[in-house]
Amino acid sequence: MKDITLLMPAKINLSIDVLNKRPDGYHSVEMIMQAIDLYDIVSVEKQKSGITLKCSHNDVPEDQRNIAWKAAEHFFIEASRKPWPYTDKGVSINIEKKIPVLAGLGGGSTDAAGVLIALNRLFNNCLDERQIFEIAKGLGADVAFFLKGGTQKSEGIGYELTSLPDFDGINLVLVKPDISVSTKWVYQNFDLNQPGERPDTDTLVNAIIQRDIPKLALGMRNVLESATIKRHPEISIIMEKMMEYGALGSRMSGSGPTVFGIYPDEKTAKIALSKLLKEYTQVFHNKTISRG
Ligand code: ATP
Repeated sequence: MKDITLLMPAKINLSIDVLNKRPDGYHSVEMIMQAIDLYDIVSVEKQKSGITLKCSHNDVPEDQRNIAWKAAEHFFIEASRKPWPYTDKGVSINIEKKIPVLAGLGGGSTDAAGVLIALNRLFNNCLDERQIFEIAKGLGADVAFFLKGGTQKSEGIGYELTSLPDFDGINLVLVKPDISVSTKWVYQNFDLNQPGERPDTDTLVNAIIQRDIPKLALGMRNVLESATIKRHPEISIIMEKMMEYGALGSRMSGSGPTVFGIYPDEKTAKIALSKLLKEYTQVFHNKTISRG
């Protein structure tokens, strides 16, 4: 086998709570993460040596700054600790971007996870699951999530993942407004003393276990909205529109700016999609997916 192509999904956060800031500067979080059927296409092909990368999106770097490139670099560092029985020791990566960039949808992280999964398959699973997970953790908490996918509760600084029951087939509409938000800025401007409404994560987990979609949708909260919306009030306007067009609940994903709504059925979601398309350019109708 010389090449592998994977569809790597985006994620939304059904809830985000920030519990405290640790002495090392990281935040302790409690989140529910959900993979959705919006995919980047990640192709990986063996080559004699070195890493090369091509990406269809103009704003995404094609060198060491690309997180998927870093994933490959770390894979080879770890794998070459043992004798290397293969003639090829390099990789060419191609990323066809469908997931909006800087959107709070985990686009870069999912590409990195895809490269780790594909490389390990191409090189006969030369690393075990734990080693792949350690590399992912070093690249970022979201990368670790995408190795698992589906619905996960995430704790600690984001690496402690607990798989939740399948919560697939839920109708979503997403709007990515034309603004850029840096995750770093959002965390720097998030005030732990004024987080706004916090989620009741246990109640949300139970709603997922019972597949009680209205209960889940009603209880969703994202404390990071308090920072992002202060700077970009139009995010709350989009959430209001989602509700007006029939959503059971609507929230910002990650640190934003993408807003998603949960809809009771496909028909309502499609009507909301067509209304929102009149006002925004990046609007998507998607569904939640289970673990691959
Ligand atoms: P998250 O939801 O994890 O915060 P995001 O959607 O906010 O992610 P990304 O789309 O992953 O953000 O991109 C963040 C930054 O990383 C951008 O500035 C982009 O140029 C850079 N980047 C590096 N590698 C990639 C990649 N493979 N895909 C997208 N962006 C990448």
